[in-house]
Amino acid sequence: MSLTAGVVAVQGDVSEHAAAIERAARAHGEEPDVREIRTAGIVPECDVLLMPGGESTAISRLLDREGIAPEIVAHVEAGKPMLATCAGLIVASTDPQDDRVDELGVLDVTVERNAFGRQKDSFEAPLDVTGLDEPFPAVFIRAPVVSDVGPDVEVLATWEEYPVAVRQGPVVGTSFHPELTGDSRIHDLAFFEATPQTA
Ligand code: GLN
Repeated sequence: MSLTAGVVAVQGDVSEHAAAIERAARAHGEEPDVREIRTAGIVPECDVLLMPGGESTAISRLLDREGIAPEIVAHVEAGKPMLATCAGLIVASTDPQDDRVDELGVLDVTVERNAFGRQKDSFEAPLDVTGLDEPFPAVFIRAPVVSDVGPDVEVLATWEEYPVAVRQGPVVGTSFHPELTGDSRIHDLAFFEATPQTA
C-alpha cells in the first residue's frame, strides 16, 4: 500500500523526518511517498502530515502567505494524523503567547516559547511516553514548554512536570525533536497507532 506523507518544508530537519516516516511506515508494510510542502495544493493529497521544528514565526508566516494554513486545519478536521514537533507544536497550538506567531489552533494547548532555554538551551533526556515500552531519547532544542492543556488533550509525557508530548484526536505534539536519534517510535505512535481519544 502507499501512504502519502507531507512534511512542512520551510526549514528544519525535513530529511531526518522523512527517514523516520519511512522506517515507521515500512514496519507497517506501507511504502511511503514523502512530499515536501512549500506551496498550497499538496496537503489535500496527504494521508499524514508533519510539522517540524525550526522557527515558529517563520513557519507560521509562510503557511499564511502560501495559503497552506487552512489546508492543514482541514486535514486535522478530517481526522487525519498530524505530528507537530517543537516549533511545529507552537504553530499548531491554540495559544503561543506571542503575537508574531499566527497559530493554527488545532491543538488545545498554551505554550511558552524557549522556556527551557532560560535554564539550558539544548539537552537530551530519556522520556517515559505513554504507549512506548522503553524510554524515548528526547532531544530538546530551544524547546517550548506546554504551560496549559485543554480538557480534550491527553498528556503522553512530562519533563520536570511540564507536558512535553500531548495528543488531541489525530494530532500529536512534542516539544522535543523525535527525528534526531534514529528512533522512529514517536512517528509510529502519531501515524500508525492513532487512536483518537474520546473526551
Ligand atoms: N525556539 C523555536 C521557536 O520558538 C523552536 C525551536 C525548535 O523548533 N527547535 O520557534
